[in-house]
Amino acid sequence: MISKKNLKVIIALEILILGIILLAGIRLLLTPSRIVPTPTASPVHSPTAAQTVIPSSSAISTTVEITPTQSIILSSPTAEVSVTPSPTAQQSLIIGKSVLGNPLTVYQFGSGQTHRMIVAGIHGGYEWNTVQLAEKLIEYLKANPSAVPLEVTLYILPSINPDGYDKEFGAKGRANTNGVDINRNFDAFWKADWDRKGCWNMEPITAGASPNSEPETRALVSFLMEYDIDALISYHSAALGIFPGGQPPDANSVHLAEALHKVSNYPYPPLEYGCKYTGQLIDWASAHEVAAVDIELTTHSELDYETNLKVLARFMHWAR
Ligand SMILES: [Zn+2]
Repeated sequence: MISKKNLKVIIALEILILGIILLAGIRLLLTPSRIVPTPTASPVHSPTAAQTVIPSSSAISTTVEITPTQSIILSSPTAEVSVTPSPTAQQSLIIGKSVLGNPLTVYQFGSGQTHRMIVAGIHGGYEWNTVQLAEKLIEYLKANPSAVPLEVTLYILPSINPDGYDKEFGAKGRANTNGVDINRNFDAFWKADWDRKGCWNMEPITAGASPNSEPETRALVSFLMEYDIDALISYHSAALGIFPGGQPPDANSVHLAEALHKVSNYPYPPLEYGCKYTGQLIDWASAHEVAAVDIELTTHSELDYETNLKVLARFMHWAR
């Protein structure tokens, strides 16, 4: 028999033991080391995390049209294993096709955050020397990639009107195969027809059935928007000087025109013959926050190569 006194002692001991167990249990639950996940659960330090960050090839192909960085990964196989693209990245990409199906090829140099562009040959064979200048600048940049600063990516489209370029080195080569002057087809002050007084009028040309009616125009507009281009040079010939985008001229485009005038012999303000320009690339661009200028080479045959190496250097280091 257990005496009443012993029973009390046993009950007290049991309560004490239960209490200790309870306290231990509570401490166990509250100990921080039990809350922290095991190291293998952490995505930051896992050695396999780097692989999961790189998108699969199927993911890249579905998004290539949207952002420039993804298209760089697509076109450059080595970019897939490098988190930071090489500052001297060089590649070419086809951004569309002409009426006759000729590729519109853009050459990329550098991989910085600031995206700039040079367009040539919008007036095709009539201004063939602009295409050949752009091709020579491409060769220069291939040999001298450091000419593009780390913070800049430069895109060069050397021939936006390849059909006109192929047709004739002369007035008949100005328009595209549909007879459209591409530099009157952009959605900026577009007019189906215009007063030809003071304007180029050596051959019949049109502005197209509507703004952006031509595949060459649409390809460039899409590229400028998707690649977030902040400044643009469009090369022409000949002799009129440097035209800033905008009517009236946009402040950033004027700033760029003045900077390029200072390192070249190209007149600024440009010579005016009273032409009322409609549907121009630089006017569309400047209305979309792209500082844009037309540069007119001195003649219809010379490349003005040395001058345009200075223009290129200034363009690469120009700040708004
Ligand atoms: Zn022109």
